[in-house]
Amino acid sequence: MSTMLLDRRAFLCGSVAAALVTTRAWAQTAPASAGPADPKLIEDLVAANRVLADQGVVDGYGHVSVRHPADPQRYLMSRSIAPEIVTASDVMEYDLDSNPVDARGRSIYLERFIHGEIYRARPDVTTVVHNHSPSVIPFGVSTAPLRPLYHMSAFLGGGVPVFDIKIAAGQATDMLVRTPALGRALAQTLGPRPVALMRGHGAVVVADSLPRAVFRSVYTEMNARLQAQAMALGGPVTYLDDEEARRAEASVAGTISRPWELWKKKALAR
Ligand SMILES: [Zn+2]
Repeated sequence: MSTMLLDRRAFLCGSVAAALVTTRAWAQTAPASAGPADPKLIEDLVAANRVLADQGVVDGYGHVSVRHPADPQRYLMSRSIAPEIVTASDVMEYDLDSNPVDARGRSIYLERFIHGEIYRARPDVTTVVHNHSPSVIPFGVSTAPLRPLYHMSAFLGGGVPVFDIKIAAGQATDMLVRTPALGRALAQTLGPRPVALMRGHGAVVVADSLPRAVFRSVYTEMNARLQAQAMALGGPVTYLDDEEARRAEASVAGTISRPWELWKKKALAR
């Protein structure tokens, strides 16, 4: 994942629009804002960035976004900086084509299409995390499927698909989801599930809230680490069966605010 400055064409188009004073031309280059978001949601988005860094899910790379509560066609995400140092002033608004509403020369994440295309494909999703969570990488490149090993990761019970960018693109790539088409292909692989791995790259994790997406990201990383340890012990590994996963997920779902409040407090105290 790398960064890019806002496409020069957008700037030039903006100049032309200003010269012609045509609202239509301007609208093509700068999507309308859905308006200011609740400061509490922005605070949670900032906290999510820092918590994911604290928990080893993201490092200098990776990003988390939240859908705009006032308009499902917009989402909020930081400008292109390391998640651990994100502040409220870094948060930008995007449309689902992943065009920034008000770029002001700020650099934006190259792989932002992951977010826009998942929001488009999944009306139920309000938060998207993209990470290079280290322990999940082996499960994206081997024949061992990532499976729920314990109750905390029961949400993996429906299976974890693997997105192969070479198949999606039809040729070798630089492994980055740098186009809307690749974002759509990734969203298709994810389907209705909470997590998809990306071969040779990382993962996407989605949920209906920021705390739940952070929770799932943390425990996907944790499950991957524990699963590799269990497999290394040799012999068959017993995973949660479908019924256990279903029941455990329902039970744990009601407790997510407990770790979230702890993680958030620590993350925002720094
Ligand atoms: Zn990436």
